[in-house]
Amino acid sequence: MKKIGLFGGTFDPIHNGHIHIARAFADELGLDMVVFLPAGDPYHKETTQTAAEHRLAMTELAAQADSRFAVSDCDIVREGATYTFDTVQIFRQQFPSAQLWWLLGSDSLLQLHTWKKWQTLVRQIHIAVAAREGDNLARAPRELHGWLGDALQNGSLHLLQTPMYNISSTEIRRRLGNHESTAGLIGPQVEAYITKHGLYRR
Ligand code: ATP
Repeated sequence: MKKIGLFGGTFDPIHNGHIHIARAFADELGLDMVVFLPAGDPYHKETTQTAAEHRLAMTELAAQADSRFAVSDCDIVREGATYTFDTVQIFRQQFPSAQLWWLLGSDSLLQLHTWKKWQTLVRQIHIAVAAREGDNLARAPRELHGWLGDALQNGSLHLLQTPMYNISSTEIRRRLGNHESTAGLIGPQVEAYITKHGLYRR
């Protein structure tokens, strides 16, 4: 059976933390493919973000790092707010017999109960989570308690074993805005793209 990981994010910009966990998810879960899904119109975040066209282009450059990686613009080309629930239906139709995994960081997992139709979603897809500094699943919102316990027990929730990699797009944007080095934190091709297009300058 084909195993596919779906990895949604703003990717503003995509950084080595994303690449590190995507690879670790693929290794630990034996995924045939990890599809990066840059967000179009994120309703969770109220930040002014970089144009989708640039975020998509940077994600495509970064995804060259591993032959299992692919990029889809399906959350960008869809009109209006995009919900994970709808994205999953699209991939389910496209890959009816594949095992689908939604890949995310622990900060996103702790928001899961605010997602559209989350209780249906968690029955349709497996979920794998990478720990981020400061997050503690033991202090998850009450709404998630029942599901977390069950999902950990029945294997539909996987906690990534690979050690965490503490980097965020917020920190990258801060560094770029202050003309500080981002060496080792983003890929060289992404860095060249950012310079070429004058992104994240104050
Ligand atoms: P920002 O700092 O702008 O909030 P971010 O670094 O969290 O951005 P996103 O594009 O929002 O990046 O993240 C996409 C997904 O990747 C989310 O599920 C997020 O939790 C996860 N993620 C991002 N960075 C890491 C990291 N270093 N470790 C684990 N998960 C991460």
